[in-house]
This record gives sequence, structure tokens and C-alpha cells, in this order.
Amino acid sequence: MRRRDFMNCSLAGMASLAVAPALSLTSCTAGKKEEKCAGPEIKISFQEGIPPGESLNEKLDYMESLGVVGFEPGGRGLAGRVQEIQDALKNRNISVAAICAGFDGFILSEDPAVKEQFDTTMREIIAAAGELGSTGVVMVPAFNGQQPCKPHTMDTRNYLCEQLHELGEYAVKCGTTVILEPLNRAECFYMRLVADAAAIARDAQSDGVKCMGDFWHMKEETSDYGAFWSAGTKYLQHVHIASRGRRLMPGEDGEKDDYRDGFRALKEMGYDKFITLECGTQGDRTATTTAAVELMKAQWAEV
Ligand code: MG
Repeated sequence: MRRRDFMNCSLAGMASLAVAPALSLTSCTAGKKEEKCAGPEIKISFQEGIPPGESLNEKLDYMESLGVVGFEPGGRGLAGRVQEIQDALKNRNISVAAICAGFDGFILSEDPAVKEQFDTTMREIIAAAGELGSTGVVMVPAFNGQQPCKPHTMDTRNYLCEQLHELGEYAVKCGTTVILEPLNRAECFYMRLVADAAAIARDAQSDGVKCMGDFWHMKEETSDYGAFWSAGTKYLQHVHIASRGRRLMPGEDGEKDDYRDGFRALKEMGYDKFITLECGTQGDRTATTTAAVELMKAQWAEV
């Protein structure tokens, strides 16, 4: 987006909360309070466990009926599923979003055998992700419970950036990326803000290293808007979403499930990648997924 369009877009977006008909970006004009930016369309994606359905094709049929355009499988066993997934997606308006983890071991392990497990299995998943045209493979450097782990020091950060550089360059060769997922201090002390992940991606110095934000984990952020902008278009490659009280479908936690501050940043950035539901449900899956998609589309349209 050109800077002038962005400025107009921001000003118009801030000026109005009213729902207006879709406008082209160039028609966004500062000062006209009834107008706001159309921005990109929201691209909603489901992890495999989200939709009702017995088979992959039943799930994808259901997703298409809701206008869901992305599919996020888990990484475990992905190399053996490439053909199955390619066949199931043929002639559908659904593509593979990110791949959710699924590797063994972890990158910051002090045990060489565990680090080797990570290197081998992560590369297998990255290769399969590339074949599927995925936006990238989601990873966390180390959960708090994973031991023995390298200490939280500057040397470890440097080591992580070097290792990610190699992994990122491999991902580029495969036509995909590695996506760092920040959590929060209760889950992953090492990387707990979107800005942390973005800075590590920057310092890895590879076009194949990116980051994401997950509305569920973003509890320590002071601003969803600021968090997404801290990664910006250069590093933000993916988004996860869930309800904000219990990690259920968006909407199941009522008024807490307000994503508009984050959505506003995504629209201003021209974010055209996926927002994947990663959550459980306490209701009927057909009803809660339908309501979640409606809520996300409505809030996206409002900002
Ligand atoms: Mg997540």
C-alpha cells in the first residue's frame, strides 16, 4: 500500500465506527466520516479439528459452505499426507494456510539427540509444507516444561538466530517459511510478545523466518493493534484466534471476544494471509463455528 493511501486509510478508519459499504482503497478519503477503508478481505482458516465431519472431504465441504478459505493441518506425519491433502483440495476455494508444528524435539534443547530429532523432523515437515504451498510451519523455540533447555542468555539468543537462519534458508528453498509463535511467560518465558518474535525473525536474517500472533496467547500485550504493527508486513505471516476467556470458538466468551483492535491493524497493514481458528468448543460444533465465522466477518467489516 502506498503511504498516502495508508494515511488516508488510517484517518478514515479512526474517524468512523459505522459500518459502510466496501470501498476501494484509493477511494478512502480522510475527513469523510461516513467512509472507511475496505482493506483486504478476511481470510478465515480452520485447523483440522475445528469443523464437524468424519472425513477430510466432509470437513472441507463444511468449510466451503461457511466461506472458509484456509486449511491448517498439523505437521505430524505431514510428509505421508501430501497426496491426500492435494487431492482433497482439488477444485476447491481452499488452500493450505500454515502447518501447525508436529515436529519432535525442540530447537533449544541441550541434549544433542533431542536437537537432532528437531532438525530431522522439522525439515521433513518444511519440505511437505512447501509441496502443499503452505505459508509456513509454526514453531515455538522451547516450552517452559521442555528440559534440559539452553539458559535464557544472550549467547542462547545468538545461537537461536543462527539456527533459525539455517532453517529459514532451507524453508526458502522449499518455497515456504518458518513461523515463530510467541506465547506468554506462563507457557514460554523465552518468547512472549509478538515484538519478541519479530525481532528474533529480523535477527535471523533470512527471508524464510517469520512470526505470528495468536489472540489467545497475546495476554501480555498492552495493545493488539501495537502488537501486530510491531511485526508489520515484513514479518507477520500468520494469525491464530480463539475466544479470549477459555480458548473456545470466537464468540463463546461473549463480550470478551473483541478482536477489533487487532483487526484494525491487520486491515491497515493490508494483511492478506490467514487467520486460523485454534480452539475447542463447549457447544454444538456446527452452531459455534457458524457463529464464530459470522462474528469475525462482522468485526472485520466494522474496523
Ligand atoms: Mg496458536
